[in-house]
Amino acid sequence: MRLCMWLGLSLPIVLIIGGCAAFTPPRVDLESAGSSSDAAEPEIDIDKDSRQPLPGIVRAPEHSAAKTVADAADSSVAVETGPSQATASAGTDTPSQPAVEKDVPEDAPPTVAEKALRELCKQIGAKLGSVSEQDCIAQDLTMTDGWSVQGRPIAFKSYSVSGDQTQQPGRVLLIGGIHGDEYSSVSICFRWMEFLDQDPTNAFEWIVVPAANPDGLLQKKSQRQNARGVDLNRNFPTGDWNRLALAQWRSRSKENPRRYPGAYAASEPEVLWLLQQIREFQPDVVIAIHAPYDLLDYDGPPTAPQRVGTLGLYRLGVFPGSLGGYAGIDLGIPVVTIELPHAGIMPSKNEIHSMWLDLIAWVHDQVAASVTDRVTAAG
Ligand SMILES: [Zn+2]
Repeated sequence: MRLCMWLGLSLPIVLIIGGCAAFTPPRVDLESAGSSSDAAEPEIDIDKDSRQPLPGIVRAPEHSAAKTVADAADSSVAVETGPSQATASAGTDTPSQPAVEKDVPEDAPPTVAEKALRELCKQIGAKLGSVSEQDCIAQDLTMTDGWSVQGRPIAFKSYSVSGDQTQQPGRVLLIGGIHGDEYSSVSICFRWMEFLDQDPTNAFEWIVVPAANPDGLLQKKSQRQNARGVDLNRNFPTGDWNRLALAQWRSRSKENPRRYPGAYAASEPEVLWLLQQIREFQPDVVIAIHAPYDLLDYDGPPTAPQRVGTLGLYRLGVFPGSLGGYAGIDLGIPVVTIELPHAGIMPSKNEIHSMWLDLIAWVHDQVAASVTDRVTAAG
């Protein structure tokens, strides 16, 4: 009832990263011919497990990953940052990281959540070439009660409006890494959080979830699905889930395990947590980030962005159980799905910035429309 009232009064905006889940490719079977993990592997510069150092590329001491990877994207050279710095604290649950301990008295042991968040950053730093452990810790991610199947935090960061604002600000939910093998969708969230950190004009409330599927990302061999083999972007409780999700998985996806929607809708803890955020945060827009299909998809009302950076709008079909289907179609929240061009290579620095500016401009328009709707409904 509360949700229905909310839907009637406001126009939620949901920004989804990683919309490949809702992909209805023309003719080509992307699941078998061009799956994101398949596409990622030959060009991996991020998964440190499988990288070999390239001669002549030196990692700078601070914030070098984004730069080097962005530079690499520009020049089509994969970057190897090497695992050594990331695994220095392997074998311990408590990396000696003063940054997160600055407010904690020495005799106060870290909480379960603090330990888990530190471990998460350690693992992310060891996995991603574009995000170091320090980059992750610097974001000071938090968590509520969101735990993955294997007990990793579903970490997030909240932002409020910069400065004083009298009008109710718009709310944006930004989600990366719902598919665990789409590394760039996680990394770009960290870059955009760094933009938000320094933005004195931010006009929105944000919840940024950089790695919505931490188990999938942080397996030794990263995988699209969560630890139980469920494609989280097929597990949302869309109205057609019971009728179509498993049926289409059998017929259309030929039971490809990468697209398994789960035994029932919203069976997975990662999806349940995202559902809770949507219910409680009531985003005006959802932005979901995926890779590697190099396009922009959109579900829901009212006006899709035509372009975000170099990505052009290409409407894909809606899959049962997808976030776009659930939030965009069923709930009526505008959902932008960004499909980055590569799962394993970050866009250039200029492109990352240009995408961000385009997204912000579009969110401004959406929120303005949403606020107008609210005022109209209230009046
Ligand atoms: Zn995806």
